[in-house]
Amino acid sequence: MSSLMDTRLNAMRKPAIDPLDLVYPPLCSFCGGGLAAGRALCESCAAGMTRIVPPFCDVCGEGFQGQIDGTFDCPNCKEISFSFEFARAAMDRSDETLELIHRLKYGREIHLARDLGILACDAFQDRRLAVALEEKWPLVPVPLHWRRQRDRQFNQAEEISKFVGEMMGLAVVKRLKRVRRTQTQTRLSRRQRMENLKGAFAIRKSWFFEKENPIGKDKTPGVILVDDVFTTGSTVDECAKVLRKAGAGRVVVLTVMRG
Ligand SMILES: [Zn+2]
Ligand SMILES: [Zn+2]
Repeated sequence: MSSLMDTRLNAMRKPAIDPLDLVYPPLCSFCGGGLAAGRALCESCAAGMTRIVPPFCDVCGEGFQGQIDGTFDCPNCKEISFSFEFARAAMDRSDETLELIHRLKYGREIHLARDLGILACDAFQDRRLAVALEEKWPLVPVPLHWRRQRDRQFNQAEEISKFVGEMMGLAVVKRLKRVRRTQTQTRLSRRQRMENLKGAFAIRKSWFFEKENPIGKDKTPGVILVDDVFTTGSTVDECAKVLRKAGAGRVVVLTVMRG
């Protein structure tokens, strides 16, 4: 790991005494305006980003215009049965959110993880997630293959999870591992993605719920699976399948953006 990345990682963990502030004055990543300590986006840029507001699909989280009455067939997911209960993204697809995610992932601007985590927390306004907060369901980040993580030097889902956990008082539990390298999914159809991901994930060590179940041994625990973007849902579906098989009673998905 480069020493700059080391410094950035340390700075991110201790934002109050960020040594990088001396080198790079803390300015908003979008407009160059002034910033609150530890933030990468100013208040007005963060407030101006497009959130998902009702109505939205209560399975895949896709936002819709107008009114949804009674039963609603979502064109994105009506043919699909997922292993998770529902997926909730905080942000609707927009150039701004996508830019932040890309700068984090490919530009390695790890300082953006905090703001993306804060944006993701908007999803907790969804009342269906109240039980997860009450019972303190752990956040489980979607893992990268170790080789990709070595190249990127961090896992964006894990970095985002850390800040969501900090904000919402939830533990981050890295319980999944990627056991197979998969090809980039961007140009694949849903069917090809499912095929590509088959057997790609596994549980790390033995399942922890017996000993570490944060909600007590007698209850079936839930899990919040975290990723940066929900596109077709194939990745989180494959992860949810593995978690369910390992004993997770309920699996819901939280992402920063609906892609
Ligand atoms: Zn700004
Ligand atoms: Zn849907």
